[in-house]
Amino acid sequence: MTRILLLAGTAEARALAGLLSTTPRINLTASFAGATMEPATFPCPTRTGGFGGAEGLARWMHKQHTDLLIDATHPFAAKMQTNAFFAGEKAGIPHLRVLRPAWPNRPKWLHAADMNEAAQRLPSRIKVLITTGRKDLAPFIARPDVQFTLRSIEPVSDLPPHIQPLRARPPFSIDSERALFALLGVTYLVTKNAGGSGTAKLDVADEMRLSTVMVARPAPPPGAIAASPEAAVAWVRDKVAF
Ligand code: NAP
Repeated sequence: MTRILLLAGTAEARALAGLLSTTPRINLTASFAGATMEPATFPCPTRTGGFGGAEGLARWMHKQHTDLLIDATHPFAAKMQTNAFFAGEKAGIPHLRVLRPAWPNRPKWLHAADMNEAAQRLPSRIKVLITTGRKDLAPFIARPDVQFTLRSIEPVSDLPPHIQPLRARPPFSIDSERALFALLGVTYLVTKNAGGSGTAKLDVADEMRLSTVMVARPAPPPGAIAASPEAAVAWVRDKVAF
């Protein structure tokens, strides 16, 4: 029996759990931060909450006799991906990062290395839609000269008056993005290069000639990377004969 710890929180993690949970001689546990996704619908045992950094994760894996570690957290889960890499190294457990491909560059994009740079790229007195999630909002809070709408899946509280929250859950269609952008009267979109199928906002921003500020991904950790759940299964196959 091969024990696999899957760090989850993405559609890829869910798909991979589906593929691995029906595989013979695999004992899969999925782990959630406890912030967004609903673990109840996962096809394998789950656990929830942080491990206490890389050391804590290494200890947890040692105690559970984990054989393989697969990190399928979001491309912007910078802390977790670093912890996972170091925990794998420390515990001597093979580690794989699952990372969906980033969206390729588009002509009208303004590139930003991080949220600070994204906020600096915005001119004064404009209307902006931010879809970067509820973390790292300080640079936008520090721009009261700009009117923001912040779209997020989870609720965000304690926002200043120049940032209006908008709770919404993807997927978003071209038609709904068109209607939203027109309703808000935004001229800028700030988003992060999550990759994946949620490109309607990018297509509509192009169509409406908005400026898109695209925040770059954090650098991935060293070591093995799989671009899809299927590639992750191939990596597992390489490690275990099944
Ligand atoms: P993060 O900043 O990289 O991680 C913060 C801490 O949360 C980690 O140090 C770890 O705590 C804990 N953690 C994160 N993922 C975990 C997991 N799968 N299982 C157990 N503990 C976990 O992560 P984040 O950006 O806040 O993302 C949190 C979760 O939301 C991730 O599972 C991610 O896939 C998902 N998510 C993130 C984004 C995004 O844009 N960042 C978007 C969609 C979904 P300890 O150090 O105590 O172990």
